[in-house]
Amino acid sequence: MTFSDDISANIKSVMDRVRTAAEKSGRTLDDITVIAVSKTVEVDRINKARELGILNFGENKVQELLNKFEAAAPGLKWHMIGHLQTNKVKYIVDKVELIHSVDSIRLAREIDRQAGNNGKKVNVLVQVNVAGEETKFGISAREARQFISAISLLKNIKVRGLMTIAPYADNSDDIRWVFRELRKLFIDISMENIDNISMDYLSMGMSNDFEVAIEEGSNMVRIGTAIFGPRNY
Ligand SMILES: *Cc1c(COP(=O)(O)O)cnc(C)c1O
Repeated sequence: MTFSDDISANIKSVMDRVRTAAEKSGRTLDDITVIAVSKTVEVDRINKARELGILNFGENKVQELLNKFEAAAPGLKWHMIGHLQTNKVKYIVDKVELIHSVDSIRLAREIDRQAGNNGKKVNVLVQVNVAGEETKFGISAREARQFISAISLLKNIKVRGLMTIAPYADNSDDIRWVFRELRKLFIDISMENIDNISMDYLSMGMSNDFEVAIEEGSNMVRIGTAIFGPRNY
């Protein structure tokens, strides 16, 4: 797949594809939150996407998120989607809409502590490494329920759902099972009605696989290159 630089045409095409996939699974475009992943993308292009109707942006590095939080148009919703080090939690806890990458008790405790210092309740997702890839962060699907009941006791943190990064595949049908597994886990955990946990968001799907992810129940997709074009590192 090749990606173009024309943000306006890209957003239109991504939204059309999101709508079609949502309809295939009995939903509408409004049921899906599209997060534009803006890592390496300049602020003027982020503001352009905002003018074109995108409200949610995702970053994977704390410093870059902070820079853009300061420089971009006010009122954008920022999502921390990358691995988060415990010692950096304090910088972002009052700035982010949602942290997608909670993968240890230690990190959850630090978010809880910093949220408490700010008099805030912070929304988080638990990152699950469904495919068990060694190169990826996230807790295993097997440990997820126990992990979530443990962090449900933290008062200033609220678990709002699950996130995964699927393995790369040339054919996204090959990784459909990953999305299906996470959806199952999402439903199982919802049915347990654990106090302080509300399974609202299933964050799965990126430029290469968002249609399959939505067909399998995703309601939050994180899309970078299909919106902004190829990244320049
Ligand atoms: C970069 C990134 C994305 C977006 O990737 P694209 O393939 O460019 O859409 C999504 N999720 C996470 C966690 C990322 O780091």
